[in-house]
Amino acid sequence: MRIVVFDDYRIGTLEDDGIHDLTDLVDGGPEFAAPYRVNSFIEHFAELRSSIERRRASNGAAIPLDAVRLRPPSPSPRNFLAAPLNYQDHRAEIGKVHADPSQTARELGFFIKSWGSLSGASDPIELPSRPSRRFDHEAEIAVVIGREARGVSRDEALDYVFGYTLLIDVTMRMTETQREERPMRKSFWTFAPSGPWIVTADDIPDPSQLRVRLWVNGELRQDGCLTDLIVDIPDLIATASGVMPLMPGDVYATGTPAGIGSIDIGDRVIVECEPLGRLELPVRQRPW
Ligand code: MN
Repeated sequence: MRIVVFDDYRIGTLEDDGIHDLTDLVDGGPEFAAPYRVNSFIEHFAELRSSIERRRASNGAAIPLDAVRLRPPSPSPRNFLAAPLNYQDHRAEIGKVHADPSQTARELGFFIKSWGSLSGASDPIELPSRPSRRFDHEAEIAVVIGREARGVSRDEALDYVFGYTLLIDVTMRMTETQREERPMRKSFWTFAPSGPWIVTADDIPDPSQLRVRLWVNGELRQDGCLTDLIVDIPDLIATASGVMPLMPGDVYATGTPAGIGSIDIGDRVIVECEPLGRLELPVRQRPW
């Protein structure tokens, strides 16, 4: 099932005839600021399932996909985690620049991106005005957590996954003298384009087979498969859930394969994974 979040953070499924709106199934009133109700929808997904299936099968009133603004499919995660150096080939290329090549996601665990960096499939990537700085694309598959995960084992970890989506971990590269920027350089607004929707876990029986590719201006830059992760998805979840509870809607970007490179204003970035869809994003100057 494809779960879309659109316009004023409405929630729907994407079907052959368009979007079937599900928002009222979780619209509990003013206590839910619009983006947060997505977390509630994910949390209650199992009990809502029969209502959702009825809505999916109903005819009429589907909203055309091209008539909406697609939002990040999990717009307000309580935790937005990302794996550093989680592919051997990426470790090799980044080790030449600044990282200690003996340190991978196995040793480093996770880092945190601000969820203020999340944007959706309808939004451009906006680069802030930082003359002489380099901004890179990192194509990634992201996991969306479905229920509270606290100290879960590797063997049960995938039971806590709601679904999967595409994400670009846009990064301002560090320089030797500006390492104090480490916490914020991946958290600029629109530095986490994600979507176009979540494909639920029941449709992805083996996430290790997912392949992600990224093009800039038509040139293939990245092509990786989750079979090549240093720390796979079950171990990412098991380790993080031993640090703090993971909550419905939490997003975990799994790391990027080799081929990172710079993006500039005017570029067009495409990231694609066959069962998850495709993001096609222009790169612009941030207007503020
Ligand atoms: Mn990354």
